Amino acid sequence: MRVGLLGGIGGGIPDLEQGVDIRLGDVVISQPSGTSGGVEQYDLGKSTTGGIFERKGMLNAPPTVLLTALQSLKAEHELEESQMSIYLTKMLERRPKMRSTGHASPSVENDVLYRTGAEHIQSMATCDACDLQGQVSRPTRATSRPYIHYGVVASGNQVIKSSAKRDQLRTDLGALCVEMEAAGLMNNFPCLVIRGICDYADSHKNDRWQKYAACTAAAFAKELLLHVSAEQTSHEESIGQILGIATSLSRLNTKIDLDQLRVAEGAEFDAYGQVHAACHPATRIDLLHSIQNWARQPDRKRIFWLNGMAGTGKSTISWTIAQWLTDQAPSGVVDLGGSFF
Ligand SMILES: [Zn+2]
Repeated sequence: MRVGLLGGIGGGIPDLEQGVDIRLGDVVISQPSGTSGGVEQYDLGKSTTGGIFERKGMLNAPPTVLLTALQSLKAEHELEESQMSIYLTKMLERRPKMRSTGHASPSVENDVLYRTGAEHIQSMATCDACDLQGQVSRPTRATSRPYIHYGVVASGNQVIKSSAKRDQLRTDLGALCVEMEAAGLMNNFPCLVIRGICDYADSHKNDRWQKYAACTAAAFAKELLLHVSAEQTSHEESIGQILGIATSLSRLNTKIDLDQLRVAEGAEFDAYGQVHAACHPATRIDLLHSIQNWARQPDRKRIFWLNGMAGTGKSTISWTIAQWLTDQAPSGVVDLGGSFF
């Protein structure tokens, strides 16, 4: 695996005054622009007293190969309709049972947007008793096709069920959609986020549109994949390489108390009866130098991570360095300051 599409559902943030008419069942795609990578982690920033949102940190942009595919698809959509509704129709033809299990569109009468501040009656399971005056009147769409919106996806740890908080995300971040998964993933596993809109992140939110919205997101993913170049993808780093190095290192450096790690008995360097191989002279020179430089730094990170396939010489390199450290300290005391290697 080399690239990721994070498909699923999210809460829509329409902005009718600005012409952003997001409806249930539409999809929102994370798209970088300006200083944003397309996904913004909203609980990392803070609203200042002046009302200006201060953003902290920045998440990665999607992989180039997916952005290229996105541009190609957008160009095609200038000329032709999206294939999404065809895929959704075929899905229901192939598996008619899905109609009765909530995967077909719940139809526009069940798509109601309430004004900011027009709250749901908390004791009621449905919106039947909610104030009709609070409903926003929107023009009927000429088609039942899902629309595609490109822009910022806001991501955080809380479920947003408040029209005021939702509107704040639009003001602070220019977000079109809010969800809870992307921010945790983007910096470890760069991907493109595809969200089917299933509610408006307000107090009226319910799960009626969730399955259909998940299907529209999947339909977009399918259409996009037809524009992804296999040749270009093969140049991306594999997910195994990215995850193996990035997450193991950060997890080990931050979450585990290294002093708590147990020593495997008999496996220590210079354990009784152990004979250790060493790198042949004049081999692995650059790698051994970089490890030696790491070991010499008083403020080094606590781990030097050797990552490689079985049988490529990690143990031999470790023994060579251990021997070098022992030679540096003939008294037999090797002080690595709690570092692990
Ligand atoms: Zn309601």
